[in-house]
Amino acid sequence: MAQIIDGRALAAKFRGEIAAKVQSFTRRAGFPPGLAVVLVGEDPASQIYVRSKEKACREVGFYSKVHCLPQETTQSELLELVESLNTDPRIHGILVQLPVPDQIDSKAVINSIDPAKDVDGFHPVNMGRLVTGQPGLVPCTPRGIMELLKSTGIEIAGKNALVIGRSNIVGKPVAALLLAANATVTVAHSKTVGLPALARSADILVVAVGRKELVKGDWIKPGAVVIDVGMNRVEGKLYGDVAFQEAAQKAAFITPVPGGVGPMTIAMLLANTLDAAEAIIRG
Ligand code: NAD
Repeated sequence: MAQIIDGRALAAKFRGEIAAKVQSFTRRAGFPPGLAVVLVGEDPASQIYVRSKEKACREVGFYSKVHCLPQETTQSELLELVESLNTDPRIHGILVQLPVPDQIDSKAVINSIDPAKDVDGFHPVNMGRLVTGQPGLVPCTPRGIMELLKSTGIEIAGKNALVIGRSNIVGKPVAALLLAANATVTVAHSKTVGLPALARSADILVVAVGRKELVKGDWIKPGAVVIDVGMNRVEGKLYGDVAFQEAAQKAAFITPVPGGVGPMTIAMLLANTLDAAEAIIRG
C-alpha cells in the first residue's frame, strides 16, 4: 500500500516558514510583500480560488488586494489595470485569475504583466528562463509538485518520468523542472498512442489532464511515485485523474485528491510573491 503524500501538511509547513520570512522582510523593507489578484467575471470556481488565495495572503502577513471586474470588462480596461499594478510600489505580485471571458485574449494579458511581478510564472520571459535554466518565477502548481516529490526523499535523477498533459500551466513547466532535475522525461497528451504502456514504465507519474480517474491501477509501475493534479468535480464530489484506491495498491507514494497538489499550489503562490518582493527590493 502506497504512502500518502500529505500536501496539506507540507503546505502548512511552507506557510509557517513564509510567515516568519514575511516578518523579517517587513522589518527590513518597512512594508509587507503585496499581491494583487484580478478576477474578471463571476465564474464560481474562480471566485473560490481567489477567496482562498486572499485568505492565505492575509494569514502570512502580506498586503493583498483583490480587484473584481465585471464580466463585460474589455481587454483594454484589463490591460490598463495591469499596467497600473505594474507600477504600483505596494504590489510585488500580480495574478490574473484564468480563465478570462471570451472578449479578452489571455495571452495578451499574461504578456502585459511585468515579468518581475508575474507570480503565476506564465509570462514567456519566465517560461523561457525556466526552460533555459535561468532564475525566474516558476509556475505555482509545478513548483508545488517538485516540493511534493522532494518530500518523499526519492532520487529524481535518472528516473523515468511521465507527465500526462501538456498545458502551459502544468504539463510543460513540470516537464521542464523534471528535466532540470535530471529525470528522463516523456510528455503525453490527448494524441498519445499507447498511454497505459508508457505509464507502466514510469517511475514518476504526473497526471494533469482533467478526466476523472483516467489512470487505472494496472497502469502503475510497482513502486512508482504518483502525483495527481486533476480536480474533477462530479455531483459535488472531487475526484482526481487517477483511480486512487487501485493506484495506491501499486505505487510507493501517491498524492490524494483533495489534499495533495491543491494546497501546495497556494503555498507556492505565497513563496513566489515573497521571492518577487525580495528581488524587487534588491533592485
Ligand atoms: P488543460 O485542459 O489545459 O490540459 C489538459 C491536457 O490533458 C492537454 O494537454 C491534453 O492534451 C491532455 N489530455 C486530454 N485528454 C487526454 C487523454 N485522454 N489522454 C492523455 N492526455 C489527455 O488542463 P490543465 O490546466 O493542465 O489542468 C489539468 C487538470 O489539473 C484539471 O483537472 C485542473 O483542474 C487541474 N489543475 C489543478 C491544479 C491544482 O492546484 N490542484 C492546478 C492546475 C490545474
